[in-house]
Amino acid sequence: MSEKVYQATIGLEVHVELATKSKMFCGCKNDPHESEPNTHVCPVCLAHPGSLPVPNEAAIAAVLTFGAAVGATPATYSEFDRKNYFYPDIPKAYQLSQYAFPFLTGGSLKGVTLTRVHLEEDTARSQHDKGDFSLVDFNRAGVPLMELVTEPVIHDAVTAGDFARELQLVLRTLGVAKAQMERGEMRVEANISVSDTEGVLGTKVEVKNLNSFKSVEGAIAFEIDRQVDVLKSGGSVSQETRGWDEVKLRTFTQRSKETAKDYRYFPDPDIPKMDISKHIAFSRLNDIIIELPEDKRKKYSNLGLTINTSNQIVADEFSDTYFSSVCKRALAAKLPNEVVVLAANYLTSDLLSIISKGVELTLTPEHFLELMQMIHAGDITSRVAKDILTEIAVSNEHPRTVATERGLLRSVDTSALMSLVAAVVTEFSAVADEYKGGKVTALQFLLGQAMKQSRGSADPEILKQLLIEYLK
Ligand SMILES: [Zn+2]
Repeated sequence: MSEKVYQATIGLEVHVELATKSKMFCGCKNDPHESEPNTHVCPVCLAHPGSLPVPNEAAIAAVLTFGAAVGATPATYSEFDRKNYFYPDIPKAYQLSQYAFPFLTGGSLKGVTLTRVHLEEDTARSQHDKGDFSLVDFNRAGVPLMELVTEPVIHDAVTAGDFARELQLVLRTLGVAKAQMERGEMRVEANISVSDTEGVLGTKVEVKNLNSFKSVEGAIAFEIDRQVDVLKSGGSVSQETRGWDEVKLRTFTQRSKETAKDYRYFPDPDIPKMDISKHIAFSRLNDIIIELPEDKRKKYSNLGLTINTSNQIVADEFSDTYFSSVCKRALAAKLPNEVVVLAANYLTSDLLSIISKGVELTLTPEHFLELMQMIHAGDITSRVAKDILTEIAVSNEHPRTVATERGLLRSVDTSALMSLVAAVVTEFSAVADEYKGGKVTALQFLLGQAMKQSRGSADPEILKQLLIEYLK
């Protein structure tokens, strides 16, 4: 008998706080991280009777820009709905959201098909840990929140994590959100079910409030295993909402899931219906040519970078900006691709390691590129290049000036090298004798000493030949 194969099916829901200047339906500053509670508030976001919401065009434009980047279809008819529920962090007793007519439908990102993207308002923040009372801070109330829903087309935790990472990168590239997960600016929920080979779809379990990529992957992997275990033992998975315990690394029951029916959605009568398909933001991408992360990776791999190096550069904000600038200059100057590849390699290894030591970088992309050209032309050895890089990282001196002034240009001047060889052989005459006596490895020591005295500037091959000749 063959064992049943269980297949997991995962759909994601992601909430992203958009980085607009003002809130979604009022003029208050959009600053959910303001530490002084209830400073960015007004009658609209405090839900005073009679106050009227006015949709934020910049927030809608941000959603449309995102839509253009992922190939989604903008709505020709859209509206805002009231999602009714009672909670102290939602003083209107409803959240303005979109139900039947989201701004965007379809599109895909990192191979994952999107169902819909809509816009809503964030809730206030409540605190229950200060005493036997609760506090509510309305700075976050009304912050524009983009909600993205994927089709249930993901089957493993790693793919879900990769999707979330790519989403963050795209949002940052477009400049519509910072999407810092650790600050709650991007929150992931995963709907996970497990079915067997007989094709019977499993019961969907929702895991909420995943605030890091690690949590997304950990919670999904845990939940798949848990549901498989339940099914294997003959039990059934109950439909519920679960939370993720980051310390115990397990999901736990929170509450049974509300359905759309419980919210009694209905169109908000105060906000006009919209046709946003002709909005300028949707064509903005083509006009100003924003390079998306995937476009950059393709471009870099065409230039000869490895997939790993391209991924590393595109995923890191500093590397991405710095390398873009280096690359632009190299292409404009029609430098060979090998120089660009050298730049990528020195950036991701040496330069990043210099910066990680807390050095304040002043090295301009121009001078960095000049150093790469010197390596490529064989003007300096890689050993010298590393030393110069460490130095000009903070001073931004011209690398050629540094190399010339210190006599670090690769030396092929045989008469100069010859006197260096003679000096080393005299200094280490015992080792030289060992070599002459047949100990071949002694040569490596002498060569090392000679390289050291040239401060890495000697051409190692020429130096070796001269040394062998001298010792004959
Ligand atoms: Zn307000």
